[in-house]
Amino acid sequence: MKTPTNPCIRCGKERIFSKKWKEYIGKSLVTYTANICPDPECQKIVETGLKDKKDRLETIQANSLRRRAENRRNRKPSSKRQTR
Ligand SMILES: [Zn+2]
Repeated sequence: MKTPTNPCIRCGKERIFSKKWKEYIGKSLVTYTANICPDPECQKIVETGLKDKKDRLETIQANSLRRRAENRRNRKPSSKRQTR
């Protein structure tokens, strides 16, 4: 089986195998492999970018969860008022 190509998202160089580890997700053991760019400088930039993206996503998710909770709280009294 040929390994699928996994080019770096930044420079397009073929990524090299970095590490492999196992982690329990719930009850199932999942094997993770990490591939990094052969260019350490580039890899550093990519990692920083990924972290920024992740942080931003988490902020967006937290905000939308909070908004949803607020909507739920606001909807109850108004729907009661409408039925009456
Ligand atoms: Zn790269």
